Amino acid sequence: YMPILNVCNLCKTYQAGEAEVKALDNVSFTVEKGEFVSIIGPSGSGKSTLLHILAGIDRPTSGKVYVDGEDIYAKSEKELAYYRRRKAGLIYQFYNLVLTLTVEENITLPCRLDKKKTDKETLDRLLDTLEMKERRSHLPSQLSGGQQRRVAFAGVLAMRPTTLVLDEPVAGLDPASRTDFLDLIKQLHEQRNLTVVMVSHNMNDIALLADRMLVMHEGEVAFV
Ligand code: ADP
Ligand code: MG
Repeated sequence: YMPILNVCNLCKTYQAGEAEVKALDNVSFTVEKGEFVSIIGPSGSGKSTLLHILAGIDRPTSGKVYVDGEDIYAKSEKELAYYRRRKAGLIYQFYNLVLTLTVEENITLPCRLDKKKTDKETLDRLLDTLEMKERRSHLPSQLSGGQQRRVAFAGVLAMRPTTLVLDEPVAGLDPASRTDFLDLIKQLHEQRNLTVVMVSHNMNDIALLADRMLVMHEGEVAFV
């Protein structure tokens, strides 16, 4: 038996001029496959730093991250890049779409950058799940904020990640889009048995979605 995610004594120190900022201070926890874990904590407590390290985009100063038993930061750069792009689906609160590409082209872009084809069936299913079928040929400027975010999300899903790493995914959305987007995350988690780690500020969202909550405070996990 093995947890999908095993974080051991993770530390991350940033140099800010003369001073050192301890963004993560000896963080340890595990996540089971298919579990939905929420992270809550005040601004500056290290939430985004933790997510970046889980997603393979920032190296820890010390400590280990095991994914499916593998120490991801012991991998070669090439293997780490593969993990980052294909396994860890990182979604930011801010999202980038290419304004001159259609919905469909934006969704298939991450795969194409990775020399992977998105077959028509997968694309159709994604457009269907995201209720974007009628808008496949639209440009981002023709979409609402909530729809734009769903397109960015679809691009990540097309890569078939095993884990979703979500940094305040509904921040800044209007109430209706928020609800839609949270429903979508819940649906994906349940239907695809995805493991989800989500930073949120909203206790209602956490209560609705998460199996478990980690509370961060000054770089430490204060409560599991
Ligand atoms: P949160 O997401 O909980 O608001 P962050 O993980 O973004 O917190 O930041 C944790 C701490 O690390 C903060 O003090 C922040 O200023 C600092 N920090 C984050 N990223 C960097 C960086 N690239 N360089 C220097 N300091 C950083
Ligand atoms: Mg943050």
